[in-house]
Amino acid sequence: MKVGFIGLGVMGQKMATNVLKAGNDLTVFDVVKDNVEKLVGIGAKAGNTPADVASKCEVVLTSLPNSAIVENVILGENGVLEGASSGTVIVDLSSITPKTIRKIHDIASKKGVEVMDAPVSGGASGAEKGTLTIMVGGSKEVLEKVKPVLSSIGKKINYIGNVGAGDTVKAVNNLLLGANMVATAEALVLGKKAGLDADVMYDIISKSSGSSYALTAKYDNYISKGNFDPGFMVDLMHKDLQLAVDTAKDLKVPLINGNLAQQMFETARAEGLGREDISSVIKVFEKWADVEVRSEK
Ligand code: NAD
Repeated sequence: MKVGFIGLGVMGQKMATNVLKAGNDLTVFDVVKDNVEKLVGIGAKAGNTPADVASKCEVVLTSLPNSAIVENVILGENGVLEGASSGTVIVDLSSITPKTIRKIHDIASKKGVEVMDAPVSGGASGAEKGTLTIMVGGSKEVLEKVKPVLSSIGKKINYIGNVGAGDTVKAVNNLLLGANMVATAEALVLGKKAGLDADVMYDIISKSSGSSYALTAKYDNYISKGNFDPGFMVDLMHKDLQLAVDTAKDLKVPLINGNLAQQMFETARAEGLGREDISSVIKVFEKWADVEVRSEK
């Protein structure tokens, strides 16, 4: 299939590589030339603009930092929609607000261009291995058309509902992860300050009702070792919590824990931890309590 890929960062670089390896005819674009060169080096073609990519492809995938950039890359000058023709399918793999993808969908559909949201979960390692979980919003028929391409980047392709449903479930999931990460960090610091051994605390809680993915995925490999290389960056979690906060505001739904969690990640950013793993939020609590939750093994 003729596939375009726009946004070749941490996730996009690896996903585009897998699309290419699956035998697709790939044309790529990124504002950072080095990112484009890496893909060209393994057999992709370089497009001059998003419009140029779209004019050469049946399916255009985007993996971009935020809602404003996705909107601009698709609807803006020299954007994907300018080069697309009736029947072109745009699949946005970024995590953005549901209302942005719905706006893009409504404008694109006037030109006969299909738009789907397909945010991913599984991080950089899942992107590299092609084992991401993909949450799709849009038309079921169009999903069947693009499934061979999505299968090259993800193992679990979940149809969620109409356009925006994928971004919604992603925002709800990351709201929970963010809130759980903050609660886990706070609890571990309290336990340590109260005299518990960090490993003992982990062994008990990970098998008890206080356990969560935030604890089991982030204690052994990150917190206990004091290794906060991402993983999933604080800056991105902060952005994802904003998606939930914005959605809640639009719907007039109070989001107490979500707003609190976002402020904790804002505090972590203010402490210079924006590019570190989300588990580094524990360093803020550790500073306040003057203890460190590390393994003594
Ligand atoms: P990133 O910042 O590494 O990559 C974004 C890429 O977009 C960069 O290469 C950048 O140069 C490019 N870009 C920016 N503006 C552009 C423009 N106007 N035109 C063309 N290219 C442009 O981000 P990432 O970590 O790869 O994340 C991409 C998306 O995937 C985000 O929405 C993120 O929330 C989501 N996501 C990330 C992870 C993760 O673990 N990193 C996991 C799941 C989902």
